[in-house]
Amino acid sequence: MKDTDQAGLVVLGGGPGGYTAAFRAADLGLDVVLVEREPTLGGVCLNVGCIPSKALLHVVHVLEQARGLSAQGISFDEPRVELEQLRGWKDSVVGKLTQGLAGLARQRGVRVLQGEGHFVGPHELRVRGTRGEQYLQFEQAIIAVGSRPLRLPMLPDDPRIMDSTAALNLADIPERLLVLGGGIIGLEMAEVYSSLGSRVTIVERTEGLLPSCDRDLVEPLRKHISSRYEALLTSTEVTAVVAEERGLRVSFGNGREPAYFDKLLCAVGRAPNGKTLDVDKAGLAVDTMGFINVDKYQRTELPHIYAIGDVVGGPMLAHKASHEGKVAAEVASGLLVANEAQVIPSVAYTDPEVAWVGLTETQARETGRSYRKASFPWMASGRAWTLGAEQGLSKILVDPKTGVLVGAGIVGPNAGELIAEAALAIEMGLEPAEIALTIHPHPTLSETLAFAAETYGGTLTE
Ligand code: FAD
Repeated sequence: MKDTDQAGLVVLGGGPGGYTAAFRAADLGLDVVLVEREPTLGGVCLNVGCIPSKALLHVVHVLEQARGLSAQGISFDEPRVELEQLRGWKDSVVGKLTQGLAGLARQRGVRVLQGEGHFVGPHELRVRGTRGEQYLQFEQAIIAVGSRPLRLPMLPDDPRIMDSTAALNLADIPERLLVLGGGIIGLEMAEVYSSLGSRVTIVERTEGLLPSCDRDLVEPLRKHISSRYEALLTSTEVTAVVAEERGLRVSFGNGREPAYFDKLLCAVGRAPNGKTLDVDKAGLAVDTMGFINVDKYQRTELPHIYAIGDVVGGPMLAHKASHEGKVAAEVASGLLVANEAQVIPSVAYTDPEVAWVGLTETQARETGRSYRKASFPWMASGRAWTLGAEQGLSKILVDPKTGVLVGAGIVGPNAGELIAEAALAIEMGLEPAEIALTIHPHPTLSETLAFAAETYGGTLTE
């Protein structure tokens, strides 16, 4: 006999999008089942993404800060790295957070079903998991199945080739590591491995690192890491990788000599999981890449099925997924809301951090959109000098017609924390003068955004 259960709302996928949606919907009174194929909630972000990477980056930033103190007259011996202990600590951080999520689900009465879900009809899922095969009939569903690392087809099947999940496992510290891809994930992992002792080469196909970010923000980062890494190869393609006993033999496209590496991290992007769910059985379409189209209510073409997070496209970021999860849950609960977020901040948690939000100068130039800009170099910030961060920069972009802030970018320590003020200012439609007139604590790096706004000039409009 078919084992069938019922749910008011099924959320498929327990990442930041899925668990946020499930919790919000339960808080609003819906009967929720959260289906997750992995043994823990939290998705990529908590288990193999944002959290473990930031835990490791915290440790290596402390390490680098200590190493950098020799100019101030303080020197340490080279640190001894106990890899197993470091791995254990990182895993314990992840474990505490995923257990916390399980507790939050229980408190709210969200039923968590472990297994892989596939649609068998517009109102039915089949879930295969630890408890065998189960069918779930639902009134509404939220698809939150996220994405997975892209693997270049030319790469051989070899254990020395890692994706971000394998890299975060920290099985060992290879002597020579090639990082394929100069985006956020590649740069963050390069920093971890370099700090722990690998000689790192980064290869990026496009002209520069962090391709979607403005060059003036990337430059201080590029300068900082170009002396630290063995090579930083931009406008360079990897054309072949051959697994040999002495290492991975890597050939490059621009006449550069082939080189051997002990390990390779492929960090060239992520692919949505939309094609893996049999959504056609529900009557839904995915695009050729595997993304599912949604409207501003997070609704798919079927009014009772919603989709959120990495699987719907746009920036693949946890805070975007959770915002969309909240919107979908509220709409499914009958609230009159829509996804009206104007901006989604991006952060590279590198050393120095790079953060940007809203319009970038690159986008403005590409689209012919006019803007006015004001920058504040951290050379003029007392706090930056006390931190050895005088290479930083804060800048704002303003719409010349309305006079309100439309974009901002920051490079320097804590840029990821500092950018939130600019995001709020954009959402609130603030003018630079309103930021400049807000008293910021001194001496802090937060002043640099206010100083950029002050540099912009102008007075408040009525
Ligand atoms: P996911 O987190 O991918 O969760 C989807 C869940 O669905 C998974 O748990 C999966 O097991 C489950 N699932 C899939 N198919 C099925 C199925 N058929 N049945 C049941 N369950 C299924 N973002 C940031 O904002 N900040 C960062 O600092 C950051 N760092 C990152 C670092 C790394 C190394 C990586 C890889 C990513 C990072 N990201 C970061 C991106 C972030 O992790 C994702 O954008 C975010 O996790 C997307 O959330 P989601 O809910 O859409 O999907």
